[in-house]
Amino acid sequence: MKYYQNPPELNRSRKFPDNLVCAHDLLLKAKNGEKGNRKVERYAVPAFNVTTFQGINAAVEAFEILGASGLLAFSNSALKHFGRGDAVAGLAIASQYVETLAKTSTVKLATHLDHGDYMSETGRKVVQAAVRNLTSVMADNSTDKAAGKPTSLEDNIGLTREVVNMAHPVGVSVEGELGVLAGEEDEDTRAEESTYTNPVELEQFLKGTGVLMLAPTIGTKHGPNKGKPGEKVKLNIQLAHELLKIADNISDDIVFVAHGASTLYGEVVAYATERLKQLGGHHTDRTKWSEFVGTDWEQIKGLIGAGFCKINTDTENRQTYLAALLGAVAENAAKIDIRWYDNVTTRALTQSYLKKLILAGDYGVWHEPRIDVANFKFEITV
Ligand SMILES: [Zn+2]
Repeated sequence: MKYYQNPPELNRSRKFPDNLVCAHDLLLKAKNGEKGNRKVERYAVPAFNVTTFQGINAAVEAFEILGASGLLAFSNSALKHFGRGDAVAGLAIASQYVETLAKTSTVKLATHLDHGDYMSETGRKVVQAAVRNLTSVMADNSTDKAAGKPTSLEDNIGLTREVVNMAHPVGVSVEGELGVLAGEEDEDTRAEESTYTNPVELEQFLKGTGVLMLAPTIGTKHGPNKGKPGEKVKLNIQLAHELLKIADNISDDIVFVAHGASTLYGEVVAYATERLKQLGGHHTDRTKWSEFVGTDWEQIKGLIGAGFCKINTDTENRQTYLAALLGAVAENAAKIDIRWYDNVTTRALTQSYLKKLILAGDYGVWHEPRIDVANFKFEITV
């Protein structure tokens, strides 16, 4: 098969404008535990799924406060939101916005397409536009969304390899997915059941595609309900280590990506439930809040040890935003000033991002943090 011969290597001499960098550069530093000239323990780079300009602003603020790696991820539905229904237009708008911020940023910023697919005609257009406008793309060809079933290994390799052929020569990193991850991320990404990544298939996939970023499935789940309330999510860390060994044998530059790895913040849930009570009614909403199930950070730490240096992060930030909005409304529902609500929720989002970056060990990469990291306290303030 033609795609088993020499996939193109990632072109590392490509220079992006201003402070933009290839996402893989950030991840490799994390895998090798590099912060400036210092060698530290392996850490992870959270990839923040941003859906609004406000989300981008809050994330960049958090990166700059901590001198952290900056990885902004855009899903297809987020791009549609930026583009008033048109994902390709949204991609141009969002990427130009980040490029403008990068001109004066104190840290390096990477932009990534989350869950791009190279199967449907519209999916292909978005991936092609992402290769032109972003610094990294995900080619998620593990599931045939139209047919609602997993793709064959051969098709997954073939389609992902096409994206690598297009992206690597221009210095854009590619993330592949192998295995099926259950849960619903947004209306464009959902599956009923997970399957673990098969180690034999992993080797074939990595060699055949040449991707340096891979999302294997080891038991995580998309969305806010990762298990039954009261039950703990258990990830297959042993399998993760087995997979890392195979990947490292092919190239030390390969990093793994954890999808569906959101950890929920107890303090946010408590804050939101309290505000809902204050606002009266909303019984069913309170129950829903108390039934959200995330992945314990201890489990995620295990994954970082196994080379998962990109941690996709979304649900906890959405929850923090909503909790802050409930707080703002409970505090003053007659404040006729969009900026006030915007500021309350932006501050909360920044806090949520700071917390995740600190948990992941992602600070002091580009400059010293501007806050006392050891004494950071996550608080929603109105
Ligand atoms: Zn995902």
